[in-house]
Amino acid sequence: MTPDPTKPTGDWTPEQLKAFGTDTLDRICRHFAALDDVPVTTPADAADVADAIDSELPSEATDFADILDDTWNNVVPHLTHWNHPRFHAYFSNSSSGPAILAEMTAAALNVNVMLWKSAPSAAAVEDTVTRWLAELLDYPAVDALLVDGASLGTFYALAAARHRAQPEVRHHGTSGEKPGRIYTSDQAHSSVDKAAIALGIGLDNVVRLPAGANGQLDPAALSTRIGSDVADGYTPIAVVATVGTTTSGALDPVEAIAAVCRDHRVWLHVDAAYGGFWRIAPAIAQVLPSLAAADSLVANPHKVLFTPMECGALFCRHPGALEAAFTLVPEYLRTDTTGSIDYMNYTLNLGRQFRALKLWWTLRAFGIRGIRTRLEHSLTLATRLRDALAADPRWHLANDSPLPLLCLRISSADGQATRKILETVNSTHRTLLSHSELDGHYVIRVSIGNIHTTADHIDQLVAELTEAADAVVGTPRPLASVTVTQQEVPAS
Ligand SMILES: *Cc1c(COP(=O)(O)O)cnc(C)c1O
Repeated sequence: MTPDPTKPTGDWTPEQLKAFGTDTLDRICRHFAALDDVPVTTPADAADVADAIDSELPSEATDFADILDDTWNNVVPHLTHWNHPRFHAYFSNSSSGPAILAEMTAAALNVNVMLWKSAPSAAAVEDTVTRWLAELLDYPAVDALLVDGASLGTFYALAAARHRAQPEVRHHGTSGEKPGRIYTSDQAHSSVDKAAIALGIGLDNVVRLPAGANGQLDPAALSTRIGSDVADGYTPIAVVATVGTTTSGALDPVEAIAAVCRDHRVWLHVDAAYGGFWRIAPAIAQVLPSLAAADSLVANPHKVLFTPMECGALFCRHPGALEAAFTLVPEYLRTDTTGSIDYMNYTLNLGRQFRALKLWWTLRAFGIRGIRTRLEHSLTLATRLRDALAADPRWHLANDSPLPLLCLRISSADGQATRKILETVNSTHRTLLSHSELDGHYVIRVSIGNIHTTADHIDQLVAELTEAADAVVGTPRPLASVTVTQQEVPAS
């Protein structure tokens, strides 16, 4: 079924697309059916993986059946499966049926959402979907758009903040300006630093204040520092607060930080890449800080809302702020459509994919009630894991976040024991956990959120952690309650 070599000018026929598409979908479905038995990571080393794939530039047409075979034989087994129920590293996330099919459909239509005119209904879908997202976040967005991820979202937001603080930079560059500064906590994501590099603000001008109790940015220390920097001749550009820090899911006190920002007239950007959409679950909505006071906000559907990479959402409450930083319209892109949105004016991108379709399909196919139930399920699983680990005195739960992210370490031993346990569990390739450092200690991070994860998977994980802890630090001391019972028996 290779395309007819006598007609090398066209695409596959609809019949070929259907046949090959059916074969592809069949492989995907078999993959999902067997997911529990698929290793979550590959044992192969880098050279072997590269060798299995490396090949000559294909000058002649390859049979699609061979391409599929090569993909399922050489690529899929050597992936790290982010869509696996036992993937608990970094941030456990998911793609889901409706989003998978939407990705395919968007590619088939080859949409380019740069100008309203270049994709009218796709721009309308993006406008609608991002308005839904803002509603889910209780955020009074004026401008909202989809970006590839939170890192670039934060970069764009900080560009808008810098434009507000130093509008001349757009024309003259940074020379002649007072140095600008960005304030955040030492728990903030590295994307803040990357944005400072790219904006010419410089790493030295990212002030990372030490997080206090519970990993939170301290509003009083923030206020003092901004005040002294202004006296020293710096221009505050923005404060970045985090809702759901990457290491431990900590929540900065957004409203108190917003008050400091108002006092000093500084832009507040909130990085809710991870923590944002969990507020859809009523069980934790009450304990998550309100995001409403942020000048700009990022939150990642690709972390929480069952849409595959890449899908981040950027919101801003100031009309025209992103456009002021990024609008630049050459003659060949001028249009006269009124009442429309030209998404190219909000970021560095000109050509943009139809990201909104996968969200439009997913939010509608599951409904918010369905999304809520799925998120609550993950929260229940996290509680199950927390309870199981709390019953084993060897473990110390090092974070206290309402989000389904646990940081744990062996309480009685140094970081080496915890590291060894992580290596032992990961070496089976059945489960994947990651690590970080919290309060000077090496910690294992366990993130829960994949759409396929069940209570059985969590029980298996507890068994694996327990077995690894037995091997590394020995079996636990008897539980306190057992000890008491034994003490009640008079010694003879
Ligand atoms: C994941 C994460 C990011 C980066 O998100 P990308 O979409 O990968 O760019 C930024 N900030 C926080 C707090 C995160 O958890």
